[in-house]
Amino acid sequence: MRTVTHWIGGKPTTGESTRTSPVWNPATGQQQAEVLLASTADVDQAVQAAKAAFASWSQSSLSARTKILFTFRELVNARTQQLAEIVSDEHGKVISDARGEVQRGLEVVEFACGIPTLLKGDYSDQVSTGVDLFSFRAPLGVCAGITPFNFPAMVPMWMHPVAIACGNTFVLKPSERDPSASQLVAELWAEAGLPEGVFNVVHGDKEAVDALLDHPDVAAVSFVGSTPIAKYIHQRGTANGKRVQALGGAKNHAIVMPDAGIDYTSDHLVAAAFGSAGERCMAISAAVAVGGAADELVAAVAEKARAVKVGPGREPDSEMGPVITAAAKDRIVGLIGSGAEQGADLAVDGRGLSVAGHEDGFFVGPTLIDGVTPEMDVYREEIFGPVLSVVRASSVDEAIALVNSNPYGNGTAIFTSSGEAARRFQREVNVGMIGINVPIPVPMAYYSFGGWKDSLFGDKHVHGPEGVSFYTRAKVITSRWPHVEGASGSSFHFPTAN
Ligand code: NAD
Repeated sequence: MRTVTHWIGGKPTTGESTRTSPVWNPATGQQQAEVLLASTADVDQAVQAAKAAFASWSQSSLSARTKILFTFRELVNARTQQLAEIVSDEHGKVISDARGEVQRGLEVVEFACGIPTLLKGDYSDQVSTGVDLFSFRAPLGVCAGITPFNFPAMVPMWMHPVAIACGNTFVLKPSERDPSASQLVAELWAEAGLPEGVFNVVHGDKEAVDALLDHPDVAAVSFVGSTPIAKYIHQRGTANGKRVQALGGAKNHAIVMPDAGIDYTSDHLVAAAFGSAGERCMAISAAVAVGGAADELVAAVAEKARAVKVGPGREPDSEMGPVITAAAKDRIVGLIGSGAEQGADLAVDGRGLSVAGHEDGFFVGPTLIDGVTPEMDVYREEIFGPVLSVVRASSVDEAIALVNSNPYGNGTAIFTSSGEAARRFQREVNVGMIGINVPIPVPMAYYSFGGWKDSLFGDKHVHGPEGVSFYTRAKVITSRWPHVEGASGSSFHFPTAN
């Protein structure tokens, strides 16, 4: 049995803890590896390595950092297929999707390559006679990243390239369910010439997370995962005086107006709801059909949902893979059942799907539930599986009110041919990321990613300008170089410009 180890101080290490967790192959239902679960002492070792490295890394020149970032970019690019295969084997998503996640992560590395420009400060000459004022941004110290299972390559890359480019050192605690991508990433950072201790990986569960949240030498924590844990991370981290950005769960609505093209809309809804088996924080899980759009839409989505090719991620024909664990499968199947019990109509029922040759895999077929109302569990819960609920609304006002009354505010979309409806929607919805005829509006790396309400705790989104701001703090310098002769005496009034 392969054991996934930590990466501390530039090399693989087993640490002192012997606790482990199984790593499954979701397509076969078999265990393929075990991952070490760090103790508090193991986490301390990683933080100490990062703290020691910060002393010199924070003093490195911008050109030295960018040289390493550009090399790292080339290495990730060259190893995209290998990374995608690791992601697919442990997460279950299809290879093309896994390659896409590596590509989106790579875009953040490319953004971070521009750090000399991103860290430029301001300068005001002669704010008072003989006085200049300027600012620059300094790194924070040791930053930690705690990440979810659903994007084991991309989500950590939302964090560490930016943090490291800003002059910080980093301790990553990836999901214990698909830990291996982070090992390869650590090797690539080392190959790129990153000094030992700047990037570290500790695997683990709650014990490792709590050790990071409580460690006095961790300055900032970036978290992405479910809402209850995001809330907890934010509370505990900030109570310990740390800077925290904690991105939570989602229930993303797509409003479909009666004037939307049904073929275009149904194609995009099927991809956005069932791609990656619905295990995307930006997946569409609720379609809100306005007025006359509903019946035709449900018929078109149902037909396309039935045609989705479900199979192991490694098979070139597969369009959708399994879900992450047997427990996740059971939960999803249970929620689909609750929809039927609570009066919804299972237009397409993905329970009981069996994939030939992979009967023990954690597969759930695409599921379409019509006639869903806001009180039902399928609507209230983040299912995080290949399940699309259809809610019917009589007007755009009712549809917008529904989006706004949901506790989550990660992403949302509208399908329409009316500019007026789209503009109203973009201005009135209380959601962080909005798509107009775009179902999964994930911003490019040079913008920042993040939701509103229960989808984000903390005030900074990840990557883009807000990411740089999160990983740095400002210094503002007021400077005078007086002529040395002839002191002018002390002045006791509050300083004003003259
Ligand atoms: P999760 O919250 O279970 O786990 C996330 C991380 O927290 C993991 O590293 C895990 O080890 C750790 N963790 C789990 N339980 C913990 C506990 N009790 N105490 C301390 N740490 C704990 O999330 P997941 O199931 O891995 O990922 C899916 C969730 O992530 C979904 O809710 C999804 O919407 C969300 N997500 C959000 C975004 C976003 O950008 N907002 C992006 C991706 C995923």
